[in-house]
Amino acid sequence: MQYVGRFAPTPSGSLHLGSLVTALASWLDARSQQGKWLLRIEDLDPPREEPGAADQILYSLEQLGLFWDGPLVYQSQRSAAYQQALQLLQDKQLAYPCSCTRKELAGFSIYPGFCRQGPRYPNRPLAWRFAVDNNLKARWQDAIQGPQYWSLADAGDVVIRRKDQLWAYQLAVTLDDLEQGITHIVRGIDLLDSTPWQINLAQALQPEAPAFQYAHLPVIVNKQGQKLSKQNLAPALDTTQATQLLYRSLLVLQQRVDPAWLQEKPATLLEEAAKNWQLERVPKVTQLPEESLKTCISTD
Ligand SMILES: [Zn+2]
Repeated sequence: MQYVGRFAPTPSGSLHLGSLVTALASWLDARSQQGKWLLRIEDLDPPREEPGAADQILYSLEQLGLFWDGPLVYQSQRSAAYQQALQLLQDKQLAYPCSCTRKELAGFSIYPGFCRQGPRYPNRPLAWRFAVDNNLKARWQDAIQGPQYWSLADAGDVVIRRKDQLWAYQLAVTLDDLEQGITHIVRGIDLLDSTPWQINLAQALQPEAPAFQYAHLPVIVNKQGQKLSKQNLAPALDTTQATQLLYRSLLVLQQRVDPAWLQEKPATLLEEAAKNWQLERVPKVTQLPEESLKTCISTD
């Protein structure tokens, strides 16, 4: 089976150090196994997007030498596929409408199932939830974080279509990963607790599909311990320093490097890095400080 990986940024802002580390790790893991690396723009939520951000991300990836294979996928253009998937789940009685408001669910850590037997207030705007298999235990060997064992009963029924009619993340991601033939998912550990839903959804949507292989990377955090993001004002990357940025990211990922690479073009550095890539060297932690990216080389 050929390796097919992917990078799936949300265009809420430019590429920053955190998203660079994720893009680089998934690119290297794919390339080191002669795999494909696909790119998907997760533009499901127009109000949260910044005009031009998707194009800026693509431009930054090109400047960094992180080229992708095949056509770009924009989730905003996949409504018909998501509708079909919702229909399939409805036909299998694995999706149900939910009228609950945020206020009614305050204090519950998981969805308490109020609408499992029908919406409590059918005249309200309705979201759709996926009825998880409460008996399912999601188990996988995470290539970075080690063996995982999660009970779907502890995850609860998840929204797959929002009451404002926007498609929800879990359904879109799972269907796209299935339809793009993704085999390996390398992404930030902030998505670890989404994985049980995605495993359950994949089984419901395409029971015959092989299981995804997962690797959850530590996320890059600022001094306040917050994941770098547009909301936390993470600065955009200066891709005129592409080689430096890639080199620092490799050090943060605890990969073997050669200082001679700093004199190279990004494409050459990446080629060498792919030859030396060892996923098992990535630190098995949940967070890495942004500072480590800024100070990890002395040649500044
Ligand atoms: Zn409800």
